Amino acid sequence: MDTSALQSEIRKIAKEKGIFILAHSYQPMEIQEIADYVGDSLDLSKKAMESDSKKIMFCAVKFMAETASVLSPEKKIMIAVEEAGCPLANMITPEDVVEMKKKYPKAKVVCYINSPIEVKALSDVICTSANALKIVEKIDSDEIIFIPDQGLGSWIASKTKKTLHIFNGYCPIHWLMDADQVRTTKAYHPDALLVSHPESNPKVRELSDHICGTSGMITYVKENPGRCFIIATETGMKQRLEKMFPGERFVLATKNITCPNMKKTTLEKLLESLREEKHVITVDREIADKARTAIERMHG
Ligand code: SF4
Repeated sequence: MDTSALQSEIRKIAKEKGIFILAHSYQPMEIQEIADYVGDSLDLSKKAMESDSKKIMFCAVKFMAETASVLSPEKKIMIAVEEAGCPLANMITPEDVVEMKKKYPKAKVVCYINSPIEVKALSDVICTSANALKIVEKIDSDEIIFIPDQGLGSWIASKTKKTLHIFNGYCPIHWLMDADQVRTTKAYHPDALLVSHPESNPKVRELSDHICGTSGMITYVKENPGRCFIIATETGMKQRLEKMFPGERFVLATKNITCPNMKKTTLEKLLESLREEKHVITVDREIADKARTAIERMHG
């Protein structure tokens, strides 16, 4: 089957089975095109909760589907590709958190949503890149264990007076981005605005006009019409922005910013997962209850 035949078949099966398809902004464009909703990790969990459908298919990485499963335990949450994990999330284990808590007994644990559910369950509160600073400022402790991303953690540390003990995990896509290449791209497009993700390394962040999560990028482009934007995040986001804002110009900050795990989802694999309703996410009840408390504190 060619791309459009596969896309039609996916829509048909999803409709017949009442499955709501969610795709992250870093997914391949042919997947984003057939999704019922495209967004960042927290958006996707919210949409999964709000949807009338009892069956949800995630085109994303595992921690996102786990978060949705915890927030919507009554629903059948599936992931299109079971082995699509997040290397950043996989860098931390529950044992690491226990160790840090022992070392800093007075500190509260703020955990970035890009983490395994067992780690969320050991945390006081969850945050996203968009609300991390607000959460850190609001929590009733001046000492914080920030896990697992040192990119976001170091960015927050530069903005708060609180003491942060930061776990040394990182997103290989953002943290390892070459600042010299970004500088070269800026030199080619001197009038462009550089937008980077907080997971980026400090050298890239220093070059940026604006630092924000993927939802924030959409707002930033809306607020700055008629400009060229250098996008220092995963290529799927640039493609999404191009689709949303056909009149604007977007350039990738370096040659290839691709998350291989996000690109594991193919139309063929999605179709198979929909047909068989496979890769159902299950989370141990006790862990789910603890993780849910930490996630709900983010909104409280
Ligand atoms: S882009 Fe980074 S944080 Fe996002 S899924 Fe890929 S490895 Fe994980």
